[in-house]
Amino acid sequence: MRRDLFDEEHLLFQETVREFMAREVTPHHGQWEKDGIVPREVWKKAGEIGMFGFSVPEEYGGAGVTDFRFNAVIVEEIIRHGASGLGFGLHNDIMAPYLVDLTDEEQKRRWLPGFASGELITAIAMTEPGAGSDLQGIRTTAVRDGDHYLVNGQKTFITNGINADLVVVVAKTDPVAGARGTTLLVVERGMEGFGHGRNLDKIGMKAQDTAELFFENVRVPVANRLGAEEGQGFFQLMNNLPQERLSIAVAAVAAAEVVLEQTIEYCKSRQAFGRTIGSFQNTRFVLAELATETEIARHYVDKCIMALNAKELTVVDAAKAKWWTTELQNKVIDRCLQLHGGYGYMMEYPVAKAWIDSRVQTIYGGTTEIMKEIIGRSFGF
Ligand SMILES: Cc1cc2nc3c(=O)[nH]c(=O)nc-3n(C[C@H](O)[C@H](O)[C@H](O)COP(=O)(O)OP(=O)(O)OC[C@H]3O[C@@H](n4cnc5c(N)ncnc54)[C@H](O)[C@@H]3O)c2cc1C
Repeated sequence: MRRDLFDEEHLLFQETVREFMAREVTPHHGQWEKDGIVPREVWKKAGEIGMFGFSVPEEYGGAGVTDFRFNAVIVEEIIRHGASGLGFGLHNDIMAPYLVDLTDEEQKRRWLPGFASGELITAIAMTEPGAGSDLQGIRTTAVRDGDHYLVNGQKTFITNGINADLVVVVAKTDPVAGARGTTLLVVERGMEGFGHGRNLDKIGMKAQDTAELFFENVRVPVANRLGAEEGQGFFQLMNNLPQERLSIAVAAVAAAEVVLEQTIEYCKSRQAFGRTIGSFQNTRFVLAELATETEIARHYVDKCIMALNAKELTVVDAAKAKWWTTELQNKVIDRCLQLHGGYGYMMEYPVAKAWIDSRVQTIYGGTTEIMKEIIGRSFGF
């Protein structure tokens, strides 16, 4: 079925992003995988062609356009180019709402121009060694001390953790107040007591810096708090999680589509028993099933994108999109790898890299099990 999500302006932008990826990313990504990180310069170059901060108002250096289809274009092109090291999705899709919608005038002036230009790289630090799914179980504290908070604690698995200049840290300002005791504070690179720890050794997404962060008596000005009042953090997070999960779903469907295309081509040329492997009924049935499920997923996700634009995407809609598409992504890529035989296990074939890069998709942004909990709770049990 024809995909009608994008208008002409999105397709033009898609061309720009494709050229950028071919010129500035694809030739270097292999080296970045060896380095375990992408250089900051590529962020600035992406900023120059307007890849960041569509929703940032023009007066702060953005495009002033709130249309998630532009975000989707970037996520899809990153996937199509196998550029799993670029943490742009986290910056654009996850961080923008925090920095655009929850900031006051002074904070906007301080942070948004750098956010849009790619000079300030962002991260969000929720997860701790002892608490991931159970976000209310975090132990990082922020104790008020005059015009500052004194932040102590440790975070882990933080995307862009090494490169980040601004980290939105989830901390307890009132450890006995439950959900009302959590506050979001922006911790900045260079603040005394703030340390970037190890760049973690992952099984995939090798070029992406995923790190531990440490906070030891970090004095964070009250002026760096997101929101006019203390204790709003949990609700601010819950508001923004649907957009984060949709971004992951957009990546999942794009990854399934790309690997399917590659596998269909492979099956047309690979020979066994004197015929192409695509001529076996099993191959055609497997590909038929995967193509059907992927196309159905594509239409649900596109509908979610328009629902988000209309401010109608619910937490449950996004949870459905996230778990279904990421489980599908893993299934599609695993079956496609099988159709490649031994070559599928070789890193020179894109399906191998897609396989290791995709495994995390059912884990971060809320696991499949947590997504099902969210959906299940909506039935009122
Ligand atoms: C590459 C990568 C990047 C990441 N980036 C970030 C980031 O930028 N910022 C950030 O804050 N975090 C980040 N994370 C952390 C990620 O969000 C967490 O790993 C995830 O939420 C799961 O938490 P956990 O690892 O503590 O697992 P746990 O919560 O310990 O879960 C372990 C298992 O128990 C299951 N489980 C837990 N609770 C329940 C329940 N109630 N019912 C049923 N099953 C349950 C889970 O589904 C899972 O299978 C990242 C993780 C990775 C791997």
